[in-house]
Amino acid sequence: MTTTADTTRKDPFPFFQEHHYDIRDMVSRYAAEKLAPRARMLDETKEFPHQTIAELKEMGLLGVPFPEEWGGAGLDYLSYVITIGELARACGTTALTVAAHTSLGSNPIYVFGTELQKEKYLRRLASGEILGAFALTEPGAGSDAGATKTTAVRDGDEWVLNGVKIYCTNGTHAGTVILTARTGGEGGTNGITAFIVERDSPGIKLGTLEDKLGLRASDTRELVFENVRVPDENRLGELGSGFKKFMQTLDAGRISIGAMATGLAQGALDVALPYAAERSQFGRKISAFGAIQERLANAAMEIHTSRLACYHAAVLKDQGHNVNFVASLAKLHASEAAMRVIDSCLQILGGNGFSREYPIERMLRDAKLCEIGEGTSEIQRIVIARAMLKSLG
Ligand SMILES: Cc1cc2nc3c(=O)[nH]c(=O)nc-3n(C[C@H](O)[C@H](O)[C@H](O)COP(=O)(O)OP(=O)(O)OC[C@H]3O[C@@H](n4cnc5c(N)ncnc54)[C@H](O)[C@@H]3O)c2cc1C
Repeated sequence: MTTTADTTRKDPFPFFQEHHYDIRDMVSRYAAEKLAPRARMLDETKEFPHQTIAELKEMGLLGVPFPEEWGGAGLDYLSYVITIGELARACGTTALTVAAHTSLGSNPIYVFGTELQKEKYLRRLASGEILGAFALTEPGAGSDAGATKTTAVRDGDEWVLNGVKIYCTNGTHAGTVILTARTGGEGGTNGITAFIVERDSPGIKLGTLEDKLGLRASDTRELVFENVRVPDENRLGELGSGFKKFMQTLDAGRISIGAMATGLAQGALDVALPYAAERSQFGRKISAFGAIQERLANAAMEIHTSRLACYHAAVLKDQGHNVNFVASLAKLHASEAAMRVIDSCLQILGGNGFSREYPIERMLRDAKLCEIGEGTSEIQRIVIARAMLKSLG
């Protein structure tokens, strides 16, 4: 089989088994037919994609990496990463909504939860009955997530939560929010514990709904917790282990943000390649100009290396390895490459690239988040350098 520029829809991949091709083809077809035509409308109206989420639920795409016994599709993390890439190729908002639900809002319950928590929440999350959210960031705790001020105070068999979480993806529509709170005892990050909170619990107030540069229909919400009571059975893991658990959750989540960036970059190249082959100036197709060929070749190279980095990290995760280093590498490379690729593809379209008639300007705005969410590029570099230095012993 020959390989082509279309490295997701046709090409063979040495990492892939039959089910990886199947899910790639299914999601790619759905995204091209249903999501691409809706993406501009979502960007303009900022309306949460309820219809899309209902369709993804029917297709079993809201619990891709979770076992069937817990309501999931029974596939692996690589299948999930492929899914996010194909969704992002057509619609960044949809990709982020699914990524936040799956790797941040559901995966911690699968990895760290008790049988009871899985029965009560994971089954409903993985089947898509409810959406999940993850609330780590606070007004004073962004990159420095250990600066959490939200508190949880024990009262009998319950905990009483007070604090403010910001930028919570899916915060308005989620059934559950997994959050960190300071439970006293030790200071620093060892005094932080994770909890599963039902979104409609009394005392949770909806704060600011962010009006954003991109991913405009993705729900980014401030949540205010005022004396919210949570049973101790909803504590996720040991007392004081919450920060570590959230960092492990982000390791896995970062692979999907890399995949989202790669999908957005591929989406831009999907538009720029045929455009360059069609558009004529100076009596020739612009694809005949060396400057345009260089842009196309560089875009293909960056997308290819990004995709390989994300798939590599996903396979290592499926094999049970610690992916802290490779996930940060994949996210950092893919998100920065996506900004370069999409900017370059926009340039190939000239004035049309700048126009909202074409989707590339939206993809550029959407991709910026990948350099910020789940740890900024600066934080990824710290993670990577720290891991390298640690390996020296
Ligand atoms: C659309 C969107 C969705 C999000 N969804 C979620 C979500 O679902 N749940 C959640 O908990 N959070 C979410 N976030 C929050 C996101 O994770 C944070 O915005 C991000 O971690 C950065 O934190 P900050 O915005 O406070 O920036 P800051 O930490 O204030 O950083 C500002 C700048 O300083 C730099 N900086 C900070 N520390 C260092 C350092 N030590 N060395 C070098 N540079 C540094 C940063 O890289 C950045 O450039 C979301 C954000 C957005 C925009």
